[in-house]
Parts: sequence; structure tokens; C-alpha cells
Amino acid sequence: MTTLSTPTENGAVLEYRLTAMDRCDSCGAQAYIAAEVNGSELLFCAHHGRKYEEKLRAVATTWHDETARLSETD
Ligand SMILES: [Zn+2]
Repeated sequence: MTTLSTPTENGAVLEYRLTAMDRCDSCGAQAYIAAEVNGSELLFCAHHGRKYEEKLRAVATTWHDETARLSETD
């Protein structure tokens, strides 16, 4: 018996919507993480997303993580 389904780490549906046009608010690199804070969306690259994740998750109403794409295109 084989299975092709792979559970995601956080259980979220992987729906990619960030593009090369979306840039990290901290360094300008391509954004892979989007967090909604106080009604506005903040974008972060994988590096800064991880760096600020702990603080952001405490205040963010939504958390969108596409860093899985990084390993796919490695
Ligand atoms: Zn960055």
C-alpha cells in the first residue's frame, strides 16, 4: 500500500499566492511569509519571517508561510 499524500508541518493548506513581486519589508528579498497585523499585511523573506515569527505570531491575525517552496526549488 502506497500513499502519495504528505502531511504539511503546520497542517495549513498550501496555497501559494506570494510572487516575486512581493518583497520582504525588512530587506527587500522575495517574500515567503505574510502576516496580517492590525488589518495590514506584513511581508517577510524566509530569513526575517523566522527571525520575527515568535513576536509576530503573538499579534498576527493570520499567518501565511510559503517557505516550503524554497526547498522545492532548491
Ligand atoms: Zn528579509
